[in-house]
Amino acid sequence: MSQITVVLPDGSELELEEGATVEDAAFEIGPGLGRDTVAGVVDGDLVDKASELHDGAKLEIVTPSSDEYLDVLRHSAAHVFAQALQRLYPEARLTIGPWTDDGFYYDIYGVELDEEDLAAIEDEAYDIIDEDLAIERFERDREEAFEVYEDNRFKREILDDEAADEESISFYEQGEFEDLCRGPHVESTGEIGGFALLSISGAYWRGDEDNEMLTRVYGTAFESEEELEEFLERREEAEERDHRKIGQEMDLFSIPDHSPGCAHYHPNGMTIRRELEDYIRSKNDELGYDEVWTPELNKAELWKPTGHYDTFKEAGEMFAWEQDDTEYGLKPMNCANHAHVYDVHQYSYRDLPVRFSEFGTCYRNEQSGELSGLLRVRGFTQDDGHAFIRKDQIRGEILSVLDVIDDIYGHFDLDVQYKLETKGDDAVGSDEIWEQATGALKDALSSEGLDYDVEEGEAAFYGPKIGINAVDAIGREWTIGTVQLDFNIPERLDLTYTGEDNEPHRPVMVHRALLGTFERFMGIIIEHFKGNFPTWLAPEQVRILPVSDDNIGYAKQLQNRYLGDFRVEIEDRSWTVGKKIQQAHDDNVPYMLVVGDNEEEAGTISVRDREERERDDVNVETFRDHLDAEIEAKAIEPTFLE
Ligand SMILES: [Zn+2]
Ligand SMILES: [Zn+2]
Repeated sequence: MSQITVVLPDGSELELEEGATVEDAAFEIGPGLGRDTVAGVVDGDLVDKASELHDGAKLEIVTPSSDEYLDVLRHSAAHVFAQALQRLYPEARLTIGPWTDDGFYYDIYGVELDEEDLAAIEDEAYDIIDEDLAIERFERDREEAFEVYEDNRFKREILDDEAADEESISFYEQGEFEDLCRGPHVESTGEIGGFALLSISGAYWRGDEDNEMLTRVYGTAFESEEELEEFLERREEAEERDHRKIGQEMDLFSIPDHSPGCAHYHPNGMTIRRELEDYIRSKNDELGYDEVWTPELNKAELWKPTGHYDTFKEAGEMFAWEQDDTEYGLKPMNCANHAHVYDVHQYSYRDLPVRFSEFGTCYRNEQSGELSGLLRVRGFTQDDGHAFIRKDQIRGEILSVLDVIDDIYGHFDLDVQYKLETKGDDAVGSDEIWEQATGALKDALSSEGLDYDVEEGEAAFYGPKIGINAVDAIGREWTIGTVQLDFNIPERLDLTYTGEDNEPHRPVMVHRALLGTFERFMGIIIEHFKGNFPTWLAPEQVRILPVSDDNIGYAKQLQNRYLGDFRVEIEDRSWTVGKKIQQAHDDNVPYMLVVGDNEEEAGTISVRDREERERDDVNVETFRDHLDAEIEAKAIEPTFLE
């Protein structure tokens, strides 16, 4: 019998007989590992332990302590859901039920379900878990498989499409239930510790809107009940922070049906955006960027030399159309336009770095199913910037950008993580320049004292990159800014500067965004602050609460005489002070000034902040200076008025 060789994660090789399975390989390594084996990862794909290995396969054994175990457990939970569903709704037709990042879903046909139904299915699922049914793989021949699914054309279609060449079809059974499936699965339903059904939505069969609408049930599963509880708590917390919900409550923005994926900023939201723009503009000034403006509408040929046309157009991500025999498009990025601005000038080595910044509005045709509030949009404005520099300026340029980024994120109370992406197989540019540039990026990161992860071989083909991730108040990680070196565009567009030797030289292009896009960044900070914006960003910074209607005149006087530089509203509805205070809290206003007859007589105010700290008999000018200083410092929380 001939032998095959598989490669283990530590790089060592294992000789096996031809036809050996993942489980055989595990037993070959050791009987303990063999017994613990749940599944395998072969060439990056999670597969059943009964899968046959091929010569040269890269193999990882999955045991209950592997990260992949949770995926296997969750897919098994999808089967438990399906079994419970069939017990209660024998007429339901099953289609597919994969695991996802935080659970699983199952698409079903022929039943309408509501929240109450989910609760009943969940109870049934817990019965199945308690029954601790063994989950066993078996095979059927092709014809028999079709017979089983005589009245389920979805499964027959899967057999036709995905198992077209297979004579023997893999099934899994647990108790009375069976499902067409490649696996992998855990050993028994009892391994599931926590199980929950989360929501219902609709999905087209095969994601095609010409097909039937199916019911998609989302659920999740964990090894223990405690882990499930923690997950549900985190989920609830995330729902409370949902930027779409807070955005509506605080009247910040809307994304109406007539503009899918394109946000409309309402006055309150635009106030926040303007503060962000002003702040970033001041940072761009500090960094020596000259602001430009470039058009959204361009001929498609603009993006051909840079390679962006191929990338975006072919992925269907570009809005482009023919008009008067010419192809036009909306810009998917600003790089090509900025390169143009560079190119129409003649620069010498002494002029570099040349830096252009733009709040550039771009459009990308994200699929409608992928759109999500401000976080995944079709129209967005980047706080973009491109610097054209000499090779010897890389370190200094990156250093100053990193410095500013560190400063900026501190003002949002976001923890930042840096990722250095290095040269991959498809890189353009010489080894020498990659080494020099990667070295300069590392150097800049370490001299800023920043920790970073290296992602070997992950860089885009055109240059190494520092990716910037922010970690929010509930531990979620968001990709935001980037600092990216580019050797490709200058080469492709033949950008040059005149060197000391009077010869043309090639600049390096740096792409950088400090916040990323205003849309995404707004979405992130709405959730991060849960609507409690720092005073400098708050759409309404101060609300004056007259104790009675008689004090409205005094309130107006305060607003006009002392607080004209701030965003101040007067609560003039005839409510009790208690109700006015409550409303101001609900509206996340940082400061409330309560003014009654006593205050009016003494010419003072009573100050409350949203942390519920109070101080009476405050001089208005003292408060004004306090507010000024807090806004100037961009403090995260209202600072206590001493
Ligand atoms: Zn399955
Ligand atoms: Zn760019």
